[in-house]
Amino acid sequence: MEKRKNCSINCSVKQCAHNMESENFCTLESINVGTHEPDPKVPECVDCNSFTKRS
Ligand code: SF4
Repeated sequence: MEKRKNCSINCSVKQCAHNMESENFCTLESINVGTHEPDPKVPECVDCNSFTKRS
């Protein structure tokens, strides 16, 4: 199936298989976001848990 960008999800992580490299958008309908910290305080504390390494 052809990948289509989701204009609501900006993302520049080109190493992710779900990223539309040419335009800095995610191609998923929705994503899951979480944290690896017990008490997140800055953006670096949160993660896209839908990330899948590009093969
Ligand atoms: S799944 Fe997450 S990391 Fe991957 S392109 Fe979408 S928003 Fe970016």
